[in-house]
Amino acid sequence: MKTTIKFGSVSGIDLFVHWTFLIMLAGIFGFYVYQGLTIIAALAGVGLILSVFACVVLHELGHAFMARNFGIPTIDIVMYPIGGVARLARMPREPKQEFLIAIAGPAVNLAIAGVLFVLGSVLGTTLSASSSFQPQANIISMLMWINLGLVAFNMIPAFPMDGGRVLRAALASQMDYRNATHIASLIGQGLALVFGVYGMFNGMWTLPLVAAFVFMAARQEVQHVMDKT
Ligand SMILES: [Zn+2]
Repeated sequence: MKTTIKFGSVSGIDLFVHWTFLIMLAGIFGFYVYQGLTIIAALAGVGLILSVFACVVLHELGHAFMARNFGIPTIDIVMYPIGGVARLARMPREPKQEFLIAIAGPAVNLAIAGVLFVLGSVLGTTLSASSSFQPQANIISMLMWINLGLVAFNMIPAFPMDGGRVLRAALASQMDYRNATHIASLIGQGLALVFGVYGMFNGMWTLPLVAAFVFMAARQEVQHVMDKT
């Protein structure tokens, strides 16, 4: 069964969206209408999600273009409800290359936030964090803070987050690649445990789910490296 739909192509890299993302969009639209929002307001909410979606696509293209720079092709980019994945044909073993490919994604979001900051300043919009998540807040400041949030979230040093790869690359420049992967995945699993337990005790039920996913991804990364060496 085909589970993804192609929605575009950039410089030879095909972009796909997983069907669950479309279900999520429809669900959010329905939820807004159910909450008593007008169709226009519900569409605006969906529009904000699509804007974030575009920022995440640009983030993944950041990884893909940096990888291409080192001769590594990207098979495709797939967008899921919890984020995007740029599937690289292979992962570099050179720490400096891994570092630059990992950092390229968050760097794109930082650049977008910078452009929005300049745009907001020129237009005289309020860009403070406290006013950005009010219902009447303007899209420029909201998107700017969401992009900064994406940078912080992706830089958490846990596989499969970009921060996990940055950490492994930093360690691998000092020691054996296997040991670096082991230490990076232990730190990732430790962080996943802390976030998971914190979420459970604070009623944030998606956090343990994400933590379990990160925990398994860290294990897989170690397995992957062991298989290849
Ligand atoms: Zn990334």
